[in-house]
Amino acid sequence: MTPRLKGVVWQRDGEQLRVVYDIRDYFLLADPDRTVETLLELLREGGRTVAELADVFAERGVPVPVDDLAAAVELFDSHGLLEDEQRLGRLDQPERERFFSNLAFFESFASLARSREDFQQTLRDAHVLVLGTGGLNSNTIPHLCGLGVGRLTLLDRDTVELRNFARQYLYRHHDIGARKVLLAAEWVRGFDPAIKVEALDAGVDSAAQVGELLDRLAPDVVMSGIDSPPEVDDWVDAGCVSRGVPYVRGGMWVTQGLVWSVEPGVSACRACGRTGGDRPDATPEAGPVANEGAVFALYADKPRTNRGIGPVAGLLGALCAFEVLRYLTRFEPPAYAGRPIIIDFANGCAIRQDDPWLPAPDCPQCGVDRPGARPDRTPDQASGGGETR
Ligand SMILES: [Zn+2]
Repeated sequence: MTPRLKGVVWQRDGEQLRVVYDIRDYFLLADPDRTVETLLELLREGGRTVAELADVFAERGVPVPVDDLAAAVELFDSHGLLEDEQRLGRLDQPERERFFSNLAFFESFASLARSREDFQQTLRDAHVLVLGTGGLNSNTIPHLCGLGVGRLTLLDRDTVELRNFARQYLYRHHDIGARKVLLAAEWVRGFDPAIKVEALDAGVDSAAQVGELLDRLAPDVVMSGIDSPPEVDDWVDAGCVSRGVPYVRGGMWVTQGLVWSVEPGVSACRACGRTGGDRPDATPEAGPVANEGAVFALYADKPRTNRGIGPVAGLLGALCAFEVLRYLTRFEPPAYAGRPIIIDFANGCAIRQDDPWLPAPDCPQCGVDRPGARPDRTPDQASGGGETR
């Protein structure tokens, strides 16, 4: 292990050092004899193991025990200040150039145990099944490609239409009439030939089909962006939960956008939310909650037009891609698992998160009798609904 300091800065203040990496955090370290500052300088230079750091201190006539240096390195690492040089340098120069911004982002989450290049390699080894290449996912796919996800399987059965051009920028005017999924795959190949991409010219027609796809393709995550038929979210939920594959979904409900995900075995699934959400409707004494449920039910049953304009689809697509990134790299835990994020497009894109869905004891997908479940709003509202092409 060869610890190297990240982009850390420090300033002496009397006998203390003020050390800053992320602007939100800083540390004050007692350093009356400048040992800590010397150690920081040596770590910034890099290229030395802990034993070799001890040698340098000894050569300079200020010996520091190896155990003390090891403890200091451990402390710095616990504050996210270090990477292991031996876990860097495996990407070649063109790769470091290609992933320059990704690597800069991942540095913030790297440690001695996991370097920024490890994060990138995880993405290179990842496989995402993208259901739909329409309104939502034509805005998700470019982000997945930019992140460097190594393998994408794209599924769609629609053709490009003039109305798609409000928010589907993978396609061009002369593509009208052509199969979307083939064009989306071609876009991916043109963007980054290193990405393996497969196009499936098909729709989703049952939970069993989703399960078969997952068995055959074994993706790490499913990015779900198909809105029709209305049962499609149930099928994706059932297929993914039964196979233990996480999925991410985004959608639009009049003037609100939603993004949520399901982490099987960890979060409540969509069916949990539906089971809970059905209850207030059947309970007149539930009062305002019942009213609200009835209003949602009334609206959900009517034909709807998806009102997602380009910036809406772009924002939702970006948030979805970010959630996929969380599942793939775990740079932080999934943020919307069983707990939709809601963006209010009629209020400055204000973002909020309501209470999480709770695991329902009688959930048909999870099938686990868990205590503490209570009625909750149905996530039906998250369904994209309406037109998606
Ligand atoms: Zn469930």
